[in-house]
Formats: sequence, structure tokens, C-alpha cells
Amino acid sequence: MNAPAPCRPPADLAFPIYLDYGATTPVDPQVARIMCDFLTEKFGNAASSSHPFGWEAKRAVEKARAQVAGLLGAQPGEIVWTSGATESNNLAIKGTAQALAGKGKGRHLVTVATEHKAVLDTMHTLERAGFEVTFLQPGEDGLVTPEQFCAALRPDTILASVMYVNNEIGVIQPIAELGEICAARGIVFHVDAVQATGKVAIDLASLKVDLMSVSAHKVYGPKGVGALYVRHNPELKLEAQIDGGGHENGMRSGTLATHQIVGMGEAFELAGKLLAEESARIRALRDRLWAGINGLPGVQLNGCAVNRVPHNLNVSFPPTRYGTLASQLLGIAVSAGSACNSAAALPSFVLLAIGRSPEVARNAVRFSLGRGTTEAEIDYVVAAIRQVLAADAAG
Ligand SMILES: *Cc1c(COP(=O)(O)O)cnc(C)c1O
Repeated sequence: MNAPAPCRPPADLAFPIYLDYGATTPVDPQVARIMCDFLTEKFGNAASSSHPFGWEAKRAVEKARAQVAGLLGAQPGEIVWTSGATESNNLAIKGTAQALAGKGKGRHLVTVATEHKAVLDTMHTLERAGFEVTFLQPGEDGLVTPEQFCAALRPDTILASVMYVNNEIGVIQPIAELGEICAARGIVFHVDAVQATGKVAIDLASLKVDLMSVSAHKVYGPKGVGALYVRHNPELKLEAQIDGGGHENGMRSGTLATHQIVGMGEAFELAGKLLAEESARIRALRDRLWAGINGLPGVQLNGCAVNRVPHNLNVSFPPTRYGTLASQLLGIAVSAGSACNSAAALPSFVLLAIGRSPEVARNAVRFSLGRGTTEAEIDYVVAAIRQVLAADAAG
């Protein structure tokens, strides 16, 4: 028995269709052009303070710092360059834990079971080093509540880490409320905002957040560069995780990757300019996708329907006789779970954590929409899904 032939796509549609912007995004051509200049012509080392090649690189790095700070409502001096958000999360969490443990403060941390592995694995490393970590279980909607969060805090809690937007299910955590709670108790609050930047308006001037991780490649910038926002506060001194020449105020040594940094700066500035219009356009496309499949037998949305970014739709489908629906969406690049876990055939730990059965979790598809997504693509995806399910039902 062969799987049914896929429905015929419109001739002008380019394949494969990319609906995995949550895993990574293409570099915006405008961003790539500027990066090229800094690879070939303006190649100086930003730490070379004795000649114009270095001055030029330094100026560019500082401009990018202001651009990244601008999207976050931060001060440029609060931005520390890293190799990506994985490193930012490590620096934020280990750097704080080690610094405060050294000062005899407590050894307890709080996070959420649905965080990115870059947070969860960092927490596990700290557990092995003698720290104690509470992993909060979110509700069925994927959200933690301020009450639940409050109840987990203890006199010896030194840091809490909660992601802004979940990478698999797109739900938005109540960061403003959680920040107020931490500030009132003097607990350092770290936020992984990788999936929020360029998608929701972030204002660190009003949020009570001490540390925030961001990455360029989820925001139409290059892979391999990110930043950690470190609130200006003399009492907040992170233990460096990479030692060397004392770059970035001693928090992260290494020659700055000028071309990457310049690219991240441009990408973040562009994201700020496009945010409102792009989010509205993507919301309409996401709603069109959901309207096209909502109500089909066995189809269910994963994660809160209200507190979520427009860019994400995580849906579980009924299993078909040929396996998961995801495996039959030929020519459509989606993710079952998130990129970091889809190599393994295991069901998503995020979906299990919000109470989905292994069967429902295994049949989930993450559609993540982005700057290049078109209505024609969405219409084709809807038609393809409906055809697979109809063929399966017809037997
Ligand atoms: C992609 C991602 C990361 C890791 O970022 P890199 O820059 O790829 O290391 C961390 N957290 C979340 C929520 C992500 O989506």
C-alpha cells in the first residue's frame, strides 16, 4: 500500500516551503551585505586601539551594541556579546550562581520544566556542583502562574530563570509579574528572550529583569552570535565563563566577531522597524492556517490560544496509517517538537510537561511562520494536510 499522492501545488510556489523559522531564519540580504564589508574591507580588530583599522571596528561594534539595546529598551553598556544564546544562558546562570555562592548567598535556583535545553542542561550542571534547582511544572496552557512561582521561592533562592516565549509552543510567560516578584525579594531574574525578540515589544526600562539572553539567527541575523543583557548594577557581577583578555568588562573574553556583531545589530534594528507590521501580517497568516485545519477530527492546538506569539502554531494531529502527519508533509519544512530535539524520535518533553500523552506529543507539528511566509504557501499547506487526513479517513 502506498501513501496517497500529494495534492498538486500552484506552479509559482517555490519548494520546499519553509515553516521552521523558530529553528532559524535566513539572514536578511541587507544584513548580509553589511557583514561582507566587515569581512573584507573593514577587517580591523576592535581591541586595536592604536590605529584606524581598530577604531573603525570599535565604532561598528558600539553602533551594533546600541542597535541591540534599542530593540530591548536597554542601555548600550548593558549588552555583552557572546557566541549565541546558548552561551548567554550559560553565562547568566552559571555566572550568577558562582558569583553569589562565592559571597555565601544561597544555592537554590528556580526555573520551568519547559525551558530550552540551554537553560535546563545548565541547571543540571549546577545541580551536580551542589546547587539545588526547582523545576516548575507549567499548566496545560504552558504557562506558569505568579502564585505558583512565588510559592517556589525560598530565603536561599538566588536566581530564577524563565523564558519569555517558548520555542516549541509559542506561549508568552508573565515576565512582568515574575520580575516584580523577584525584585521585591532581591532574587536575580534571568529571561531567555530568544523567541520573543522581534516578535513582542520588549522594554527592559520597565521590566524588572536583570539578565536577558538573545540570539541573532532567530531574528534574520547570522548564526554564531548573541548577547546577554546585564542590568547596570554594581552588585550584579557575573563570574566569567571564558577567560582571556578581559574583553566585555571581564565578563566574556575573546576577539569580538565584528562581522557577526554588525550583522546582529542591523538585524535587530530592522526587526524593531518591522515588528508591528510583520506581526500583524503573520498573525493573519497564522489565523488562516488554523482556520483551515481547526475542527478536523482529532486536531488540537498545543499551548494557550491567547497568550502566544503569532509566529507559532503547534498542533497535534491524529496518527495516520502511514505514521505521523509530519512525515507525510513532503516539501514542507516543519518541526516535530523543536530542532534541538527532533533528531531523537522521542516525543517532545515540552508537550509531555504540559500534560499531553506521549501519543499526542509524538503527533505534534510546530509550524513557525516568518518574514518570507506567503498566503499561497499557507493555502498549500492547508490543502496538503486536509488531503493526507481525508485519504487516511477514506482508507
Ligand atoms: C534557539 C534558542 C536558543 C539557543 O540559541 P543559539 O543562539 O542557537 O545558541 C536558546 N533559547 C531559545 C528559546 C531558543 O529558541
